[in-house]
Amino acid sequence: METVDSWQVGDIKVTRILELIEHFMEPLEMFPDATEEALSEHRAWMVPHALCPDTNRIILPIQSYLVQTAQHTVLIDSCVGNDKTFPWNENWNQRRDETFLRNLAAAGVSPDDIDFVFCTHLHVDHCGWNTKLVDGRWVPTFPNARYVMSETEFKFTEANAGSGSGRTFEENVQPIAEAGQALLVAMDHTLDDTVWLEPTPGHTPGHVAVHLTSRGHDGVMCGDLIHSPIQCVFPDWSFKFDVDREQSRVTRRKFLEDCCGSGRQVFTAHFPLPSVGRVEERGDAFRFDYPG
Ligand SMILES: [Zn+2]
Repeated sequence: METVDSWQVGDIKVTRILELIEHFMEPLEMFPDATEEALSEHRAWMVPHALCPDTNRIILPIQSYLVQTAQHTVLIDSCVGNDKTFPWNENWNQRRDETFLRNLAAAGVSPDDIDFVFCTHLHVDHCGWNTKLVDGRWVPTFPNARYVMSETEFKFTEANAGSGSGRTFEENVQPIAEAGQALLVAMDHTLDDTVWLEPTPGHTPGHVAVHLTSRGHDGVMCGDLIHSPIQCVFPDWSFKFDVDREQSRVTRRKFLEDCCGSGRQVFTAHFPLPSVGRVEERGDAFRFDYPG
């Protein structure tokens, strides 16, 4: 599963770092507001890339984006990682798989080269490679990086440590803070004139989207404010595990409206490969246009 897919946003280079592709959940379970009737007319375009015809499950890649600007080498989210505790998903629990690190190397980047790791939010599939296990201790995978997390998200995750989210805080977040590498920021933090955050709460309280801009071109990493292209057609279908499903609807609809027709490249976390495209109008909602 080696991949070196890459894109340009003006002078910024973005490269996919894929870890795995999951057949996640059946659509009616994943989106509690969905109905078979509403879904049925969309199955034709969803199968086989967005919806597996054999398992009837939403197909969901787990991936990071490597962002190389003139100033910085940035990793957006860090997948599931190895040796992590997450018994609710056997594919994520106690993984021993080097695909992510191999794909990073294939992109010509070593962990030492990463200047910043941005976490859109602190769920297990977005901050796993923040750390790695060395001699029984969790240490930062990226020794020279500052890890940018919204302070709201950090506090929310800390407060919920040990209560159903595996050991995400203890394994992926706390060791970063203890190493002095955590940069807790406001949800509208600006790194420089090419990279900044937009508050996008709902999936989690401190969730942020990461915007890129260069020479009049725009891109955005939207994390988990949306999970599947079917939510472009039905923006009100929140994900089962959105912490605040009502806020998630408001955030998702505003995000889709802002992107629609703007030409902005949207780098989704979980849409089927190639996962990157543009939001366009479709009736009174939206569609996701893949290039080509
Ligand atoms: Zn996710």
